[in-house]
Amino acid sequence: MKDLFRDVARYLWDPPEDFPRELKLEWRLVAIRWASFIFIALGLPLANLNADRQYAIYVLLAVAAVYNGALQRLMPRKPDIFAKGYLTTLGDSLLTISMVFFGGGFESSFYYLLYSVTIAGAMRYGYGPAGAMVVLYVFFDVLEHVVVGVPFSLAFVFRSGFLFFSGILASYLREQAQRAESALQDRLRQASLLNEATAMLGASLEFEKVVAAAAAAASYLFGGACAVLTPPLRRSAGDPLLSPVVHCADPNGVIDHDQLIAACHESLAGEHSTPQTPGEALRLNLPSGATALVFPLALRDREVALPVLGVVAPSGRHVPEINQDIVESFVERVTLSIENAALYRTLASRSTDLQRAYADLAIAHQDLLSVDEMKTNFLANVSHELRTPLTSIRSFSEMLLTYDDQDVQREFLEVINSESERLTRLVNDVLDIAKIESGQMQWNLERFETGNLLEECARAYRPLLEQRELGFEVQRTGDLPELYGDRDRIQQVISNLLNNAMKFTREGTITLGAERTGDEVLISVTDTGIGVAEEDQERIFEKFQQVGAMLTDKPDGTGLGLAICRDFVAHHGGRLWIESELGRGSTFLFTLPISEVAEQIFDQGEPLPLEQAA
Ligand code: ADP
Repeated sequence: MKDLFRDVARYLWDPPEDFPRELKLEWRLVAIRWASFIFIALGLPLANLNADRQYAIYVLLAVAAVYNGALQRLMPRKPDIFAKGYLTTLGDSLLTISMVFFGGGFESSFYYLLYSVTIAGAMRYGYGPAGAMVVLYVFFDVLEHVVVGVPFSLAFVFRSGFLFFSGILASYLREQAQRAESALQDRLRQASLLNEATAMLGASLEFEKVVAAAAAAASYLFGGACAVLTPPLRRSAGDPLLSPVVHCADPNGVIDHDQLIAACHESLAGEHSTPQTPGEALRLNLPSGATALVFPLALRDREVALPVLGVVAPSGRHVPEINQDIVESFVERVTLSIENAALYRTLASRSTDLQRAYADLAIAHQDLLSVDEMKTNFLANVSHELRTPLTSIRSFSEMLLTYDDQDVQREFLEVINSESERLTRLVNDVLDIAKIESGQMQWNLERFETGNLLEECARAYRPLLEQRELGFEVQRTGDLPELYGDRDRIQQVISNLLNNAMKFTREGTITLGAERTGDEVLISVTDTGIGVAEEDQERIFEKFQQVGAMLTDKPDGTGLGLAICRDFVAHHGGRLWIESELGRGSTFLFTLPISEVAEQIFDQGEPLPLEQAA
């Protein structure tokens, strides 16, 4: 029975779920009307009223009940008609006038005054004071009846009833107005809080600063001690956030950010039912007792893998209730800012990449141009070098035809012979270079004795050097390990160096040396010749570069020898360089890895790209 009564009261007082909010007051007025009808219906027999009037009032009450019932049914269906309250105001006025007409009540204008004062009091001070005023007035009315001996009439019941209901109604209206105003104030405060919080977001476009500002803004808006932004567990491509960003409003306070990060991760891992709509937050109780608010940063119409934002309030304090739409707007602004910053970052890195690619391209272009230039020069040089001996051969052979003298013929034949040797050397060198550069060189790899190699070279050159009255020494320091590689090519390198030494030395000694240095063998050819100026020391390793031509007129060579030597040595994993002083002689040195190391290098495939090794 009690429950039934409570249910009915609740049904009458609280409008249905989908009931328009602006008609809530109208709905409650229906309930108040029912209460007053019951009050009047029950109080009527007590009133000292003649039968006609009583009958009229019951009829009136029946009409009023139909009116109130109709309102109750129609209001949810046609809310528009009742939105402004014109109909109900008219109905209520007619009802009140009829009640007062049939029931009597306000014999003196003094009561109108009382009504005004009671309503004003209720509007100003609420239920308590209004109730006290009503009690006071009714008390005096009763006192008058008792003292003067006037019989209690319906007029008295009406007066008191109206006074009572007016007080309650006015107090209720006051309460509603106050609530609406405080809700409005609250929203205003939250909106300005939201503006202040999100103003921090616009300060920068840098990703790190934006996420830090987002955490700071969250902690500010929700009044939390700490806020964290955690990246999604499964990171999407191009997502620049790596580790959680923590903002603590009070660095000395009790910091729960580890627990908060864990809560965020749990929420990401789907351990709690994640809120579906943006701005809908998850309220969690952390092990430390603090309340945490966790919400995913996502936009309504897009599925973006964005970090989760969590805010924690210190234990004992709760994260304040913030309006759903304020939170939604906050989430939206934070999400957009983070997205913009990420976009900006991607753009910036793309533009850096582009700039780098452009620079690489410019370098490659430059390289291509210089390669092209080198090829052109190479071709020009080769044709020039080919033409010189060819011209000699042609002119001497033409002359040969016109001379009968055997001695002259022999002299010419010797020139023709040496020029064709030079031509052969040049063609061989050019072929070697072409093969090396196109990677078609055949390498006959084998292990060989370093000592033997040196001996063989010495045997070939000793008579030539003696012929030129030059001294020759072979200096072997310590035990020489075995080498591994193309023996003929290495021999070609030493011969070339000895040949150069011979060419550029007028007097003195030429020394062929070898020693072990670590995992390498260092081979050197030292002469006491003209030497190479420091500025030319790198240049002579380039193709067709000949320096010091003044001394020997046209040096007997192609200018390709050292370039080929350097490539051969590099192919074996070694280096070739010069140490020299102009006028005092030169030492050409090169290293070769000992056989064990060289075998490994060759086992791994092509030893070294030539340009890298050089
Ligand atoms: P070439 O076939 O002309 O000797 P190289 O490449 O062997 O070509 O040598 C290039 C140039 O380096 C030579 O023309 C010469 O100017 C210089 N050069 C080489 N070896 C020596 C040396 N031992 N003493 C002085 N200059 C040298």
